[in-house]
Amino acid sequence: MSEQVDVIVVGGGLAGLVAAHELVKAGRRVAIVDQENEQNLGGQAFWSLGGLFLVDTPEQRRLGIKDSVELARQDWFSSAGFDRDREDHWPRQWAQAYVDFAAGEKRSYLHDLGLKVMATVGWAERGAGAAGGHGNSVPRFHITWGTGPEVVRVFREPVLEGASRGLVTFHYRHQVDDIIVENGAAVGVRGTVLVPSTQRRGAESTREAAGEFEMRAQAVVVTAGGIGGNLELIKKNWPTERLGPAPAHMISGVPAHVDGRMLGITESAGGNIVNRDRMWHYTEGIKNWDPIWPNHAIRIIPGPSSLWLDATGKRLPVPNFPGFDSLGTLGTITRGGHDFTWFILTQAIIEKEFALSGSEQNPDFTGKDVKLLLQRVKKGATGPVEAFKSNGVDFVVRDNLRDLVAGMNEITTGPALDFEQIEAEVVARDRQLENKYTKDMQIMAIRNARSYLSDKIIRVAKPHRLQDPKYGPMIAVRLHLVTRKTLGGLETNLDSQVIRPDGSAFDGLYAAGEIAGFGGGGVHGYNALEGTFLGGCIFSGRAAGRALARDLG
Ligand SMILES: Cc1cc2nc3c(=O)[nH]c(=O)nc-3n(C[C@H](O)[C@H](O)[C@H](O)COP(=O)(O)OP(=O)(O)OC[C@H]3O[C@@H](n4cnc5c(N)ncnc54)[C@H](O)[C@@H]3O)c2cc1C
Repeated sequence: MSEQVDVIVVGGGLAGLVAAHELVKAGRRVAIVDQENEQNLGGQAFWSLGGLFLVDTPEQRRLGIKDSVELARQDWFSSAGFDRDREDHWPRQWAQAYVDFAAGEKRSYLHDLGLKVMATVGWAERGAGAAGGHGNSVPRFHITWGTGPEVVRVFREPVLEGASRGLVTFHYRHQVDDIIVENGAAVGVRGTVLVPSTQRRGAESTREAAGEFEMRAQAVVVTAGGIGGNLELIKKNWPTERLGPAPAHMISGVPAHVDGRMLGITESAGGNIVNRDRMWHYTEGIKNWDPIWPNHAIRIIPGPSSLWLDATGKRLPVPNFPGFDSLGTLGTITRGGHDFTWFILTQAIIEKEFALSGSEQNPDFTGKDVKLLLQRVKKGATGPVEAFKSNGVDFVVRDNLRDLVAGMNEITTGPALDFEQIEAEVVARDRQLENKYTKDMQIMAIRNARSYLSDKIIRVAKPHRLQDPKYGPMIAVRLHLVTRKTLGGLETNLDSQVIRPDGSAFDGLYAAGEIAGFGGGGVHGYNALEGTFLGGCIFSGRAAGRALARDLG
């Protein structure tokens, strides 16, 4: 290819679009290279709920939430648990800078591009129970009005405008296989031109080759995403000592293009990978009854009330409550020797507490449809949740507990469940509701959540006995483990420039988004606070674009 460009961006996901946007603003010429077709522009971010970690915002203040950059920093560093000298050198600095961004410029940067967040603020990842431990002390999960497609739109449109001025070219179905390095500097990429694909967005596409390509530029930015679609690589990097044995079975929370290949390719070119063993998966996955990508998982973002049982029917130990500590619960499950668990709940709980992660699962937020949105406060679960209840292979709905357990036994892939044992768990829990006080920490947590106005109105059901027919029918959901995010990755400095194994900066090579562990090779450390991934793509993609706009000849 003879086209003259300043920068090659490998990967047209969110991080790539943000980097391209910053370069276009500075009048630089960019080539965006992606292995998928044009339907997929925006990558994973399109499918996201558009949840953004923001600190001390007008939305929080209106809801009476007292947040501050100091509190957010305390939460971030307690959750991250950085403990490695070399590997956490840049991640610590990224974490400091990212929390400042989330408490400062992030909201106005996005707002100026036309992005608005909703008035309610979600309380994700509520933590492991200690002030100085993992988790968000306060609600910080701001959902984009328009969800993931809107996050993509605000960057896609200025980049397309740049294309109309001749500053940006797109090279779809171009799979990068190699980074060209000359005299110690990255000067281009080469790879395979794949046969055209007419697959819809998110669907797996063929890797059949139609030819080869080579492109050159002053710099290369790698924004090719993480490893969440590559179960083999996840298992290879799995931290057995922290999370127990790698599960035999997981369902996929990301499209197949999140294949992790560019990590190995960039490493072979001389980039350094750190914190490979840090990853972020979920424990509340259900099989999509209407799948888009292979093994398609949908994650339930749960409220706190469902009773959580292991595969044998025993309640999970404290503090493994729904929505509190993702990796803590994952470790509990995998160390228990099974790869699925059960929620037991009621119709009243599903109506208020089941949110499904994914733009397509929230047509009201995604379509900015106020009329549809108002149906959330009416009786009944949302349409997509009801559709899962009727069509999902993981759902059992019955009028009483005995029938419910019989239904669970019909679909279990583990040991047969004993009705008496499950009944004892349910009765023990329900007896704790007789008084305003209790020794049951999950019920304490439910009451605590309801002292936050937004949770009380839209997110947390009034505490009730699970066997009370007034709140029924009873529901059981089989929950699978879901792959999702990569917390480690290419080591980068605060300009998103890739670092070599000897600690020096790699001339001409930059990385941003999930492949860079969202900045530095692991800005989250061991644990995330949620809504931090899109923001991490934005912050690290912006850093790469701005540094190149400043430094290129
Ligand atoms: C269902 C879902 C819900 C989510 N919800 C949230 C949320 O609410 N909040 C939040 O913060 N985060 C959320 N996330 C996470 C977030 O969306 C992702 O972490 C983020 O979008 C990753 O962006 P990226 O640009 O780094 O990579 P990607 O989006 O994965 O894009 C990478 C691109 O690179 C291309 N590519 C890869 N390898 C090559 C190669 N060799 N050659 C050419 N091209 C290549 C791929 O085709 C792809 O287009 C969610 C993710 C999913 C899937």
